[in-house]
Amino acid sequence: MPSLSLKFKFNNIGFGLFYSGSIENYKFIYDCGSRSQNLLHQFLQENYFTFENPDKIIDLLVISHFHDDHISGIKYLIDNAVRIKCVVVPYISPLERLVLSVTRSRKQRIFSNWYNHFILDPYSYLASFDNIDKVFVVNGGPEELPKLPPEIGVRPTLKEKNEFSVDFDHQLQDIKDKVAEVIQNTEGINIDENEKIKIKEHGQVVGLDFWEFVFYHDQANINLPLWVKNIKRIIGDFEVFSQRDLSAILHSDQILQKVKNAYSRTVANFNNTSLIMYHGLIYSDQRPNINLRLYGELAFDGQFSTPSLNEYMRLPGLYDSNTGEFESTGHLLTGDTNLNLNLQRLINFLGARFSKTGVILVPHHGSIDNWNNNILNHAGGTIPVWVASVSIINEGQHHPSPLVIRDILNRKHIFVSCNQYSYVVFYGIVVY
Ligand SMILES: [Zn+2]
Repeated sequence: MPSLSLKFKFNNIGFGLFYSGSIENYKFIYDCGSRSQNLLHQFLQENYFTFENPDKIIDLLVISHFHDDHISGIKYLIDNAVRIKCVVVPYISPLERLVLSVTRSRKQRIFSNWYNHFILDPYSYLASFDNIDKVFVVNGGPEELPKLPPEIGVRPTLKEKNEFSVDFDHQLQDIKDKVAEVIQNTEGINIDENEKIKIKEHGQVVGLDFWEFVFYHDQANINLPLWVKNIKRIIGDFEVFSQRDLSAILHSDQILQKVKNAYSRTVANFNNTSLIMYHGLIYSDQRPNINLRLYGELAFDGQFSTPSLNEYMRLPGLYDSNTGEFESTGHLLTGDTNLNLNLQRLINFLGARFSKTGVILVPHHGSIDNWNNNILNHAGGTIPVWVASVSIINEGQHHPSPLVIRDILNRKHIFVSCNQYSYVVFYGIVVY
């Protein structure tokens, strides 16, 4: 009987996030950043590109947001990849990018020659690499996912569908036009002329014909009227803060300092958002013959400790179609999102997929500020596994919060963390 193997991994790169997945040869990544730059680069070289992805072809690269601990390895990844077929990034407006620029510490700025270019013009920056085929910019969209596409293959195949959207244009043309217009205006990108950059509303994407990738992006809650007023005083009036305005500020140390000072005098009311990704088996009555098993491990990597520590803990079976129902194949990757702002919308959007989610990234490395324990009422699966990507060194002092861990354990769910020594990996096999 033919079979396909699956592997999804929260890698041991310290405080940050580097999640990698493979479905046979289909390779995808969600975030590639760490506060420990050397550790991450070493890991990419000696582990990821050596064992996980020696062909160095990445089918899908997703960036949740633009904080260092999620993207510091992106440039290295791109430089060392042979080809990246598709990059998916959230739309982060020039004003949000200005906030990122003025709130970075000096230490964070060290690695960042490329980051300065990136933050000024992220979409064109990514599109400028010859080995990147396409850049999808995702910005908001419908409140509920449209129905599954009718033409799901009955047998799983690796036939790729990299045109990243189901055809729901007819209902959403309004939203699409609006999204595209905003981005064209603020970024100065001419979408019609640029072959590589595509603007998308969030929604479902069928990466493979039996496995779906679903994206959700809540637009940022940016409310800084006082600061904006000050910026206008410094650089002149504008209607919508655009990339040109951002450029004027970032290209002059003097102006940047003024804008920074103005920011520190403002009571900042700014919540950063993240592009959330769900991926999992497509459930369909049309496909009775699929048999999928998944199990997970929390493992310690001898590379960063003594070889005798090469041990693992078996996590409970997540899904076995011989014994269980189609329950927990899904992984929900939440970046640094704030569940207090968007949980209800996220639940509405994902619908039944929420109850089919077996593995969830604890948002923002387990910070209590981003946690809403109401999510425990909705996450499904037999025994959901919560993973926090953290550091065992005291870098992120309150991450993960003991209160978050307590909430999870109180529900008899499983909590595990990956740090520079431990990783969390899920293996699966599809037989058909
Ligand atoms: Zn983070």
